[in-house]
Amino acid sequence: MRSFLNKYNAAVRHTHGWNLELTCPHCGHRGLPRYEGWMPDIAENAGDRPTIYAKVACTRCNGRLHDEAGRKVAELFPEVQVPEQNAAILKAFILGLFIVPSVFAGMLFLGVQMGWWRYSAFAILALSAVFIQPLVMRMRYQIALLRSRCDCGQPNYVFLGLLGRTSCYCCSTCGRLLRLRDL
Ligand SMILES: [Zn+2]
Ligand SMILES: [Zn+2]
Repeated sequence: MRSFLNKYNAAVRHTHGWNLELTCPHCGHRGLPRYEGWMPDIAENAGDRPTIYAKVACTRCNGRLHDEAGRKVAELFPEVQVPEQNAAILKAFILGLFIVPSVFAGMLFLGVQMGWWRYSAFAILALSAVFIQPLVMRMRYQIALLRSRCDCGQPNYVFLGLLGRTSCYCCSTCGRLLRLRDL
């Protein structure tokens, strides 16, 4: 169980960073900015506005490039399609969300009909909630696995931020852009 959780945590964890060139509005320098770690964004998920966590600065004049980073994500990622596998994983997850409680409810109903248990057994329905968590984990794990592959053979995806409700990534090895969605 522990090794499974380690594997799960390693898979779903993403690497914050910044690996796209930006043009500095302060001095006009164009290039890879200096990445200075990341901070939570309090205005997270405000509509379709990009949410950038990376703290980036111009390597020439040290100017802040936060707004440039947001513009870059807004410019590049709307054209990037969420992979079909991603959509299929979400569909299977939502189906599971309906199936698990209905199977439990069905068993309960049958149990009451057959006199297997008394009404207190309805508490068992709460048990179905316990089965939702593994479904959520499986969904997040499968989506995270999409980041473990890249056409270049050396996947090294950096998490750039959010665009709407999708996560935006760029492979440091080949520059491929990837957009993923969970719930
Ligand atoms: Zn600059
Ligand atoms: Zn790549």
